[in-house]
Amino acid sequence: MGKTVGIDLGTTNSVVAVMENGEPVVISTAEGTRTLPSVVGFKKDGERLVGVTAKRQAVVNPENTVSSIKRFMGHKFSEVVAEASRVSYKVKEDKKGNVVAVIPAADKEFTPEEISAMILQKLKSDAEGYLGTLVDQAVITVPAYFNDSQRKATKDAGEIAGLKVLRIINEPTAAALAYGLDKKANETILVFDLGGGTFDVSILDVGDGVFEVKSTAGDSHLGGDDFDAKIVEWLAKEFKKDQGVDLKADKQALQRLREAGEKAKIELSSQVSTEINLPFITMTDGQPAHLVMTLTRAKFEELCADLLARVKVPVQTALEDAKLKNSDLHEVIMVGGSSRMPMVQELVKALTDKEPNKSVNPDEVVAVGAAIQAGILGGEVKDILLLDVTPLSLGVETQGGIFDKIVERNMTIPTKKSRTYTTAVDNQPEVEIHILQGERPLAKDNKSIGRFHLGGIPPAPARVPQVEVTFDIDANGILQVSAQDKATGNQQKITITGSGNLDRTEIDRMMQEAEMNAESDKKAQEMLEVKNEADKLAYGVEKFLRDNTDKVPEADKTNIEDKVRALREAVASDDHERIQTATRELETDFHKITEEVYKQTTPTENTAEPQAEGEKVGAGVGAAANEDVIDAEFKEEK
Ligand code: ADP
Ligand code: MG
Repeated sequence: MGKTVGIDLGTTNSVVAVMENGEPVVISTAEGTRTLPSVVGFKKDGERLVGVTAKRQAVVNPENTVSSIKRFMGHKFSEVVAEASRVSYKVKEDKKGNVVAVIPAADKEFTPEEISAMILQKLKSDAEGYLGTLVDQAVITVPAYFNDSQRKATKDAGEIAGLKVLRIINEPTAAALAYGLDKKANETILVFDLGGGTFDVSILDVGDGVFEVKSTAGDSHLGGDDFDAKIVEWLAKEFKKDQGVDLKADKQALQRLREAGEKAKIELSSQVSTEINLPFITMTDGQPAHLVMTLTRAKFEELCADLLARVKVPVQTALEDAKLKNSDLHEVIMVGGSSRMPMVQELVKALTDKEPNKSVNPDEVVAVGAAIQAGILGGEVKDILLLDVTPLSLGVETQGGIFDKIVERNMTIPTKKSRTYTTAVDNQPEVEIHILQGERPLAKDNKSIGRFHLGGIPPAPARVPQVEVTFDIDANGILQVSAQDKATGNQQKITITGSGNLDRTEIDRMMQEAEMNAESDKKAQEMLEVKNEADKLAYGVEKFLRDNTDKVPEADKTNIEDKVRALREAVASDDHERIQTATRELETDFHKITEEVYKQTTPTENTAEPQAEGEKVGAGVGAAANEDVIDAEFKEEK
């Protein structure tokens, strides 16, 4: 069995951490950074880039570069139309109404789970490189506000990447674990996590090994990207006023605006004014046009007033749900890159009457918490009790389109709850269990997460049959629903794979594809190395011939030149074996000549270049209701 890691699979950045000798350690990427941009790029030659290398080529390859995929996880296309229009790649609806990213370079469509799996695969292989062992299990974090479909999608992504997902835990809970691991005294803390695409607030009681979530709230459509978008809008508007060109219509220009927007935003966290300078952004009347603008922090804050107002809501909801006042909070822990914005910190201070606590690393604390959770599950970390809650209410649709809640939000999980329902008309043979998640009273206003039928109900007058519906939520927050006809004992159950989720066969197919890709990625890598060696040899030989032209007999020279040409042709053919054969043939004949030349050269007279030793290729790291009471009626079956 391999190692278990903790993974923060973020909208913008992902981080992997592990427990080593009882301490959580953040693992650097192969490129040497502690966070991995959650970006996947596809090059025309089929090469796939993940992380910083993918982010770097985003400007020149916008339609083949996927970022912020987390915003689409577990969603129907109809739920994310606005988001789809904001990304640089094409997002469309597949036959089942789910979201897919269309990648021209790969001539393929990818589900959000597959893209996320590519990010997870990279984290896995970087962790394997660091640890020198197989990594095959993980604890993965999700925003507390993620609904059932989004959690399921995350778990599926892990599986596609070849990771057994031992637990899905909430990001703020993970952050609290990392913050409170050594705290002895009891504290009530508020974790404020504003990342790139999501916003999460949780209130917890921590201390002496017990972590009890009191409430959680958030906005799964609010994050740093929205603040960048404000700057992009402003830049585009000003530029249009000035030069009459709509930069947003040009994908490359738009991508440059986005990057400049984010950079300006980050600078405004430490400076009061910043210059945005984008030379050659477009052409106007056949002339190159440049964008040069100054943005002040005051102007930026004015642009973001509506976003800031949205930040307030979940903080207030979380306090109300926990039945707490500001004065009950001991600490407010700031998490997520966007919590660094001065306007956000001021708002938090105003909302909670507390100086924001910045003792944790906002970029890494979630992954560290996930690693600790992995340690708890593996028995390495002891005496910790984690009591998490379900973020949204869950229930079924009843007669008249009413949403009947079975599990209320902020209920401690795991949990199991049952209610008994009946039929609406005489001789109703079947009931439909329509499962919903949300807080609104009418079924249609909540998120539909699955439905199934329970048939075989014996003929009976309306309101006589009794169907017991049970909701069972596991520690991952993933729901299983069962329904049983009490008269016949007939039972039906489903694990929610509702809206926007993949079914088992799709997951299996994607797992195979991911594995196959790992193989072809490796092959591509080997091909690059062989070609590289061949190129080096060809250049080396040519240089030698030039430098020693008078010492090599004409016939030998012609033979070697032919072999160099053959090698170059082999390289162009992309035929692995042909390249290796041509390399060997050239080497053999060339060695004979160098031996001759060395013999001619007197030991003291060192005219020949010392033959370069093949560069050492670094040793590749192993890739590695009360029973008798009827609670409600199901609506009539048509
Ligand atoms: P996620 O959890 O969504 O992956 P992160 O917590 O890594 O995101 O936060 C990423 C966001 O934080 C990005 O929008 C980034 O621009 C923003 N960010 C990072 N550093 C700063 C900073 N100094 N000031 C303002 N925003 C920042
Ligand atoms: Mg995050």
